[in-house]
Amino acid sequence: MPSARHILIVNSRSVHQPVFVVGAPHSGADLIGRALKASAGFHVTIGQPSVLRTVYAFARRPSMYQGRAQAAATVIRDAFAQGWQVTPSSCLECTRECRAAAGLSAGAVGPCVELRGLETFGDASPDLIYCAEALTYAFPDARIVQLIRDGRDVVASMLADPVVMSWYRPSFVNVDTEFPNPFFGIEAEEDRDQWPRLSPAARCALRWRWSVRLAARLHHSLPTGQLKTIRYEHLLSKPDEALADLSRFAGTAVQTAEIRNEARIARARSRHRRGPGYEMTLSTEDVTQIEKIAGEELRRLGYAP
Ligand SMILES: [Zn+2]
Repeated sequence: MPSARHILIVNSRSVHQPVFVVGAPHSGADLIGRALKASAGFHVTIGQPSVLRTVYAFARRPSMYQGRAQAAATVIRDAFAQGWQVTPSSCLECTRECRAAAGLSAGAVGPCVELRGLETFGDASPDLIYCAEALTYAFPDARIVQLIRDGRDVVASMLADPVVMSWYRPSFVNVDTEFPNPFFGIEAEEDRDQWPRLSPAARCALRWRWSVRLAARLHHSLPTGQLKTIRYEHLLSKPDEALADLSRFAGTAVQTAEIRNEARIARARSRHRRGPGYEMTLSTEDVTQIEKIAGEELRRLGYAP
């Protein structure tokens, strides 16, 4: 059940239909976040400290919020009320990606957005996906953009990303104390039992599988006008088509320059190889493991026969 109508005011503007971008790591949510941030009338934050604190609280200790939807919604609204403030020094504490997307230099102070013409608030912080369901409760009119990508490519990219892989440090892993554990994709007893024996690729596959199952739940719980699913592969093969569709959904002309450029690079790379990209980096054993863990999800999305 959605929460009671709650009006959040930021910089004397009421937050109306905020846009949130979610996806598994390396699924293109960062690309879409930057494109929306550069679009007219949009104020998209990427990694404001108040938001990241909340995201990781939800990701790491989901049990803290279980059955306490109202409290969770309040925590989330407070985090964004702070994160979206536009002040002369806002964005100073944001991630480097946020400042870069706003055209600010790494250490620059300054608002990453013009107050004039600001109509829509949004957020594309890393790992925002772990708050997705709570976001729709905190902001019943929220619009969610979710990114989907072939799990084998996602795993290949995760394995090559030291930041993502650092989450698997034994000192950080809390699969024994937190169950179920969305952050590590552990939903059933069986997942927890097999966890100690899983390869890094299989552990990444669990995280991807969780994101796909979440996508299915969002699809069932949100009306079409509030959820846009974008396939990474479609975004890079037909960027103009995908972005025109996103522009209609977001109600603004979404900036296309960076994504068109990425698409060009991806096309050039794929001309130089046979077969799918993940085959360059994943072993046959890795692929077998991923398909064993997430075969059903890969098939459902049409990525595997
Ligand atoms: Zn920022």
